[in-house]
Amino acid sequence: MSRATITLKPKEDLRIRWGHPWIYDNEIAKVEGQPAPGDAVDIVDARGIPVGSAFFNPASKIRCRLFSKKPREADEAFFREAITASLSWRRNFFDPEKQSLRLVFGEADGIPGLIVDSFVDASSGKRWLSAQFLALGVETRKAEILAALAAVFPSHGIIERSEAPVRAYEGLKPAVGLLAGEAPSGLVIAENGLEFAVDLLEGQKTGWFLDQRSNRPAAARHAIDPVTGKGRRVLDCFSNAGGFGLAAAKAGAISVSCVDSSAVAVASALSNAERNGLGDRVSAVDANAFDHLRNLERAHERFGLVILDPPAFAKNRASVEGAHRGYKDLNLRALKLLEPGGILVTCSCSFWFDRDLFSRTLEEAARDAGRRFRIVEERGQDHDHPIVSGYAECRYLKCLILAAE
Ligand code: SAH
Repeated sequence: MSRATITLKPKEDLRIRWGHPWIYDNEIAKVEGQPAPGDAVDIVDARGIPVGSAFFNPASKIRCRLFSKKPREADEAFFREAITASLSWRRNFFDPEKQSLRLVFGEADGIPGLIVDSFVDASSGKRWLSAQFLALGVETRKAEILAALAAVFPSHGIIERSEAPVRAYEGLKPAVGLLAGEAPSGLVIAENGLEFAVDLLEGQKTGWFLDQRSNRPAAARHAIDPVTGKGRRVLDCFSNAGGFGLAAAKAGAISVSCVDSSAVAVASALSNAERNGLGDRVSAVDANAFDHLRNLERAHERFGLVILDPPAFAKNRASVEGAHRGYKDLNLRALKLLEPGGILVTCSCSFWFDRDLFSRTLEEAARDAGRRFRIVEERGQDHDHPIVSGYAECRYLKCLILAAE
């Protein structure tokens, strides 16, 4: 059976050749052959010159996702090669045998729609994988992907966490469960000298926010006031299991108050604090961060370090305006709570809310709060979430460290 060929409209090949892996329905001139949903197809430009191989999905506006610049099959050998390349990139920065990390970051690692995180238990050294299949091309090739993972990066078990709403755009239903091996029980990972319990089946996203790994110690550097040498009062908003707050407590904060609207997250922040011998300095409340910040302001509370790590407020282009209000309000309230010289660590993980817009929003918040700031650091996602040229969508995390006057 020969493969179907998809011919692009004139010039639509340029963006693809420069590294963008998505072909939208309106960029296609013709489809030759009868590709089934999920099939690999050949992409050619308007002159018939090959562009590459892609997964085909007639149910999605992203009609094709390029997985290779050459004509080839997406068989087990393909996934082995791609996963091997992902792993070797990570070896430049991490020890994948000991550290938990994102092993495959979808399109940025050349496997459209596949996310794989690896978690290593701190005491046993055993490894588990957590996978998300977010596009039809990888959904229909689960067997090949599992075989390739077993060959390249064997683990004790693979958990599926394919719940992201983007699956609906691909015509796929949410799926959660054990795909291979056994489920971990009592998994505890190590990060920057701290230990955190991670629940791969029930935790948010794949279980732990690995993208913030290097930003946590960068924030914790400000846990001590450099002038007085005293530990600061720290407020960790949207704390989840305490990733930032505990790093600050370990670095010498006098007190850390974690805030999250999920009771499960609050309980895990507290138990993680105990686990690391930081229970005496860490408290956690189950509250809406917006309300909580307002209440703290009314009570004239002040902090030396405030961390804001909210979920993505802008999930698409249409929600950017609402997100702008949310980010501005949150940052304005946080700035007002800072002591003179205090530090704000503020994050946004919405791709749609880009760096320029985020910076402008922070300017507006500062103006309305009557607080000038200096930019201490402009940071982003860690190296296991690679940023590749030509594919802007992979660069999503912003983490700014600001010092308020
Ligand atoms: N800072 C965390 C990750 C935060 S993820 C870390 O370093 O790991 C975002 C968190 O925000 C989630 O835990 C979610 O429960 C919480 N959240 C979402 N909306 C919220 C709200 N309105 N108020 C407080 N927390 C909220």
